[in-house]
Amino acid sequence: MFATRFAPSPTGYLHKGHAFSALTAFDAARRAKGRFVLRIEDIDATRCRPEFDTAILDDLAWLGLDWETPVRRQSEHLDDYHAALARLDAEGLVYRCFRTRKEVAEAMASAPHGPMEVFRGGPLPAAEEAAKLAAGKPFAWRLSLDAAAAKLGGFADLAFTDETEGLVSARPELGGDVVLARKDVGVAYHLAVTVDDALQGITHVIRGVDLFDATHVQRLLQALLGLPTPSYAHHPLLVGPDGKRLAKRDKAETLRSLRERGMSPGDLRKELGFG
Ligand code: GLU
Repeated sequence: MFATRFAPSPTGYLHKGHAFSALTAFDAARRAKGRFVLRIEDIDATRCRPEFDTAILDDLAWLGLDWETPVRRQSEHLDDYHAALARLDAEGLVYRCFRTRKEVAEAMASAPHGPMEVFRGGPLPAAEEAAKLAAGKPFAWRLSLDAAAAKLGGFADLAFTDETEGLVSARPELGGDVVLARKDVGVAYHLAVTVDDALQGITHVIRGVDLFDATHVQRLLQALLGLPTPSYAHHPLLVGPDGKRLAKRDKAETLRSLRERGMSPGDLRKELGFG
C-alpha cells in the first residue's frame, strides 16, 4: 500500500517550506488512497525542544492534515538504530572515529591526494584503538565506504527511482564515510531515517531537493541492511523574497506568524499551489 511521510525535526517552528513539503506528501497519499505518516526526528537532543514538537502537531492540524497515530518519535526508538548499527558492525562495515570536528577538517584538508570534499578514513590500528577505548575517549561510528564497496562488489548495481530524474544510479561516495552514530546520542540522521522508512513501510519518500544527496547514502544503507528501497520524489525548495531558501530562522514566514497575521489554511494552500 502506498505510504509516505513528513519527517520534521523539532528544532524550530515550521515555515511555509515545511507546509509545502507536508502538503505535497499528504496530497499524494490522499490521491493514492494510501497512508500518511508523521515522524518526529528528534535524536538531536541539543537542538530539539518539546515546545517545537507540540507546535508541529498543532500547525499541521491547523493546515488540515491528519496522520496515523501513534506518531513515531525517534528519541523513543534508539534500540532499533543500535540494532541496525550492531548488524553493520558485525560485518565490519562501520568503524570508530575518535576525531574531533577540527581533526576531521584537518584530515580532509591535508589528504595525501589533495583536499577531500567529504571525509574518508578507516579504523585505527587495533592497538591505538584499544588505547583510546581504555582511556575512555568518545567516538562516533562511521560507515566505511571501502568495506561497503567490497561487500557489494562496488556500487554500480545501486539505483533508485526519482520522480523527475527517472532511474538514478546511486553515488554514495557523495556522502563519504558518513557518521551513522554520533558521539553524544549514539545514532545519526542517515541511519535513523533508513531504519524508520523501512520499519514504517514507507513506499514513497517525498522531500525537498536539499536531501537529494542524502538519498544516495540511504540507498546504500538499504542495500547493506537488506531493506527495501522506496521510490523518491525530491520537490523544489521554496525561496523567500530575497531569493534564498526559507530557513527556520525566517521568523516572519513561520506558520505561527502567518496564522497570527490572520492567514487562513485555505489561503496558504492556495498560495502554495494546492488549490
Ligand atoms: N528530519 C529531516 C529534516 O527536518 C528530514 C528527513 C527526511 O525527510 O528524510 O530536514
